[in-house]
Amino acid sequence: MKKISDRLKQVSQIFRAYSQPVPVDQPYFKERIAICDPCEWNSANIAPEKLSVADKNKIKVFFKGEPMCTACGCCIPLKAGLRDSVCGLKSKGKKPKWDTAFDKHSKVYGLANKSLIANNLTPDEGVLSPMDGGFKYKVNVLPVDSKMVELVIKITDIHGFSLINQITSCGCTAAKAEAIDDKSCKLTYQISTLKILEGGKLDIFANITYGRRLRKTQEVIKINIELEREDYGQRSEEL
Ligand code: SF4
Repeated sequence: MKKISDRLKQVSQIFRAYSQPVPVDQPYFKERIAICDPCEWNSANIAPEKLSVADKNKIKVFFKGEPMCTACGCCIPLKAGLRDSVCGLKSKGKKPKWDTAFDKHSKVYGLANKSLIANNLTPDEGVLSPMDGGFKYKVNVLPVDSKMVELVIKITDIHGFSLINQITSCGCTAAKAEAIDDKSCKLTYQISTLKILEGGKLDIFANITYGRRLRKTQEVIKINIELEREDYGQRSEEL
């Protein structure tokens, strides 16, 4: 097994390649990686013959060889970089080995926040709705030949919006953030849909951390993109 320091170096390179800042120097990131490294659910600790072909491909193609949490199917370094993510065991109804990592300077938005507005700039692609801590983007991926979906959201905070970073839980998602003015920002997500089978689903989590100039606070918005591919056979029967 690789040393944590080697892994962090490799992670840093991979994430620079993805153009997404990852908090590799943050104590919470290092602590999580130290827990995931020896974990029995870490794909790096599982004999290759016990991993499915789909998981091996996912690790090779989408995660660039980085380890996967076999409890939740996420890329471990990406997942560990998200402040509000929780150990994958939670998705199996088991006690998580690590929890969210918010400090006293950060706060997750709830629905009570009246200063935050999100506009769906790609309404044909999906439905954007509020959820606890941010927004949910629900998208139906067309069957058979759809390989990519692009979603664009405009986020506005009337107390100012200065982007600090944006990271996503999925290595096959290209995320871009562009400032529109000092109160709003355009977020673009290009997501490969190749790995969603008919009747299958894919959940992607993104965190946007930003500063509110007027209030001098740092805030975090959660965006959950839920992609679903219809069962084409069943749909044909219905028509
Ligand atoms: S996220 Fe949790 S279950 Fe997954 S590898 Fe890390 S410690 Fe193990």
